[in-house]
Amino acid sequence: MNSNNSRRYDVAIIGAGPVGSLCALAHARKGARVALFEANPNGYDKLKGEWLHPPASRMLNQVGLRFGTQGHVTNGFVVFPEDGSDPIPLPYPGGARGLVLPHETLVLKLREAAQNEPNIDLIWAAARPTHDGRVTYTQNGVEESVIADRLVGADGRGAVVLRLLGLTSKPMVRSRMIGVRMDGAALPMEGYGHVFCGGLGPVFMYRLGDNSVSAVVDAPHEYSSREAVDLLLNSYVPSLPADIRSSFEEAVRKRRFKFAGNTIRPRIS
Ligand SMILES: Cc1cc2nc3c(=O)[nH]c(=O)nc-3n(C[C@H](O)[C@H](O)[C@H](O)COP(=O)(O)OP(=O)(O)OC[C@H]3O[C@@H](n4cnc5c(N)ncnc54)[C@H](O)[C@@H]3O)c2cc1C
Repeated sequence: MNSNNSRRYDVAIIGAGPVGSLCALAHARKGARVALFEANPNGYDKLKGEWLHPPASRMLNQVGLRFGTQGHVTNGFVVFPEDGSDPIPLPYPGGARGLVLPHETLVLKLREAAQNEPNIDLIWAAARPTHDGRVTYTQNGVEESVIADRLVGADGRGAVVLRLLGLTSKPMVRSRMIGVRMDGAALPMEGYGHVFCGGLGPVFMYRLGDNSVSAVVDAPHEYSSREAVDLLLNSYVPSLPADIRSSFEEAVRKRRFKFAGNTIRPRIS
């Protein structure tokens, strides 16, 4: 079925991840009428960005989003050299602060704010942009469309907007990122992101919640879950300070980890 009336908007944004949702709020606060599309309401439950540098944290503040105890403030990074010499703190310049929070918390809060914004219609559907300025989508078996003066592609790896523009490039998977969720670990310098050197690659560790710490490492992309466990235990555990090794090992043995592909897409302008 086809509904013939296209609704008019100033802006159509494809993708209600962090970028699309924030972009929708920023446009709406300037008085624009916004159609915000999201194809996968539960897609936030993946290994994705949790660490926000100061500019991103400031942007969230600017649209009035406060995370209170759901987020942890960060002062920067501290590097632990592989030769065991003193850790090297790398604070953000000028006392700036970043923010760490579960990806799901970030996305849900942004979407909630977008849904409560009178100028934004959040449309739960896969959007298909067309060359005549329309965005079509199917809801309850009916094909609908909107017309917008501006189209924003915030569809992440979905890349429907890049395809429309003919700007596609072949993704190349280079490695996999493994995110390990640890309970009850104490970090040597709370308030900082920790980079432990000396393993197969660096281990990046940061506090995510009052009782949980995230650790992120790289692994060859062809590794199975079982091979990843061996890699984490044999090639990464020895690079960690003794007092966090046991929490890391326990989380790995209980398979409290997720994978994400590290994909390179050559830039096309
Ligand atoms: C393992 C990992 C760790 C990362 N760590 C960090 C970090 O610490 N800090 C950081 O800043 N960044 C990090 N990143 C990157 C960060 O996750 C992304 O930059 C961020 O999620 C990008 O947000 P986005 O809104 O552009 O895209 P996404 O989060 O990918 O959202 C795109 C949205 O568009 C929707 N969509 C796609 N196609 C369509 C369509 N046709 N119609 C409607 N909706 C559609 C998708 O369902 C999705 O919800 C990490 C990424 C990974 C994989």
